[in-house]
Amino acid sequence: MSRQYETVIGLEVHVELATKTKIFCGCSTAFGGAPNTHTCPVCTGMPGSLPVLNRQVVEYALAVGLATNCGINQYCKFDRKNYFYPDNPQNYQISQLYLPICHDGWVEIEGTFGKKKVGIHEIHMEEDAGKLIHDEWDDCSLVDYNRSGVPLIEIVSEPDMRSADEVIAYLEKLRLIIQYLGASDCKLQEGSMRADVNLSVREVGAPEFGTRTEMKNLNSFKAIARAIEGERKRQIELLEEGKRVVQETRRWDDNKESSYAMRSKEDAHDYRYFPDPDLTPVVISDEWLDEVRKRQPELRTEKLLRYEQEFQIPRYDAEILTGSKPMADLFEATTAICKRPKEVSNWLMVEGMRLLKEQEMDPEEIKFSPENLAKLIQLVDNGTINRTVAKNVFEEIFTSDIDPEVYVEEKGLKVVNDEGALRKTVEDIVAANPQSVEDYHNGKQKAMGFLVGQTMRAMGGKADPVMVNRILADILDKI
Ligand code: ADP
Ligand code: MG
Ligand code: ZN
Repeated sequence: MSRQYETVIGLEVHVELATKTKIFCGCSTAFGGAPNTHTCPVCTGMPGSLPVLNRQVVEYALAVGLATNCGINQYCKFDRKNYFYPDNPQNYQISQLYLPICHDGWVEIEGTFGKKKVGIHEIHMEEDAGKLIHDEWDDCSLVDYNRSGVPLIEIVSEPDMRSADEVIAYLEKLRLIIQYLGASDCKLQEGSMRADVNLSVREVGAPEFGTRTEMKNLNSFKAIARAIEGERKRQIELLEEGKRVVQETRRWDDNKESSYAMRSKEDAHDYRYFPDPDLTPVVISDEWLDEVRKRQPELRTEKLLRYEQEFQIPRYDAEILTGSKPMADLFEATTAICKRPKEVSNWLMVEGMRLLKEQEMDPEEIKFSPENLAKLIQLVDNGTINRTVAKNVFEEIFTSDIDPEVYVEEKGLKVVNDEGALRKTVEDIVAANPQSVEDYHNGKQKAMGFLVGQTMRAMGGKADPVMVNRILADILDKI
């Protein structure tokens, strides 16, 4: 390949908001449920039904807009986007085209070439569509409207990203912000966060962007990275052969690691957008906006600083702890109970991270309670159990959320610091290992460690190691 190409990427990210009810009716947004049970005349598009806007949707959209440095349109409107497809019972989707609620923001990411800002063109509110299930067995399609009318925000970025790494950094940044705000759980696998990738390539130094394609059906960060690589290659090959890239929507097939054209790209006018006559414009007063602003929770950057300053947690650890909202919540809740931030951080960072990796889990999936971790820390602090035992108890907490006090009692794991019992065991070990005793007297410190280890083993790991060391030194010196 003689020419050098640059990849240009802009994202359209849909996020399902964490409201209890849908955007224009009182139906539940709960995931699952028998098909078409969370529905009513409004979200199934019955003639004569009228939408009523859910206030919480506006507040979540504002919260995300403020956290991403957007300007706010305090007078905004809903528009109808007309299209005919059975997932959409009204034959139009209520969205925002002319006056979206937020515009012209940015987030900062750590990209391929250092820190950079990714522009946010706009954020608008809209409703989700129903779900089609294609039943190949019976050769028919079924439709479930439970998701129809679930509130979404669409976050449209500027074409500011230049690599898959930057795209992932941007998505992770957005996800953290939104999770911290409590506006959504942002799970790509479950579809509560969905990213469409717009991608074009151009020769390095070219003044204009190339023609872009839009890729859909990307439900993991890995799939996104593979899709970007695949599409970049495909476009470069076309250009190298002297062909043109066609502006179209493509569907990524992660199993085949290739994409295929779904439809030629529609322009806004194809959707015959017009203002929805059933909904009044949304007027956001200064007071309302101020209220939302005051309620903004501590975001990640502030939390990072606070962990370093208030709790003296090293930067690297603080980054991991704040890298997931549930992890940060667990850290803070446990610390609030036992007042030992460094201990809590150590347990989560060392044993917690080890088990997460071993069990291929996300921090979001941690399900033990802060009370139990706090109790474990207290059991170690007051010498009821030693650290070796504590590690095993932690594993039990991690997998089954056991109460460590009860567990330690039931399994008889309390530290043995009965001088007589320990002395007896140490004497047995010393008698059984004459070579080590000789080595010790010849100045080999390792021999001491070996004898301590043997004693601990004989005691089922429950002996007080300080006491074992003292008794052993005492006995050896007398030999
Ligand atoms: P539409 O509304 O028709 O989908 P937009 O102009 O609003 O198109 O852009 C949609 C997304 O595509 C935005 O995220 C934008 O950043 C991105 N985009 C626009 N032009 C390009 C391009 N030439 N290359 C890559 N991405 C682009
Ligand atoms: Mg678009
Ligand atoms: Zn409904």
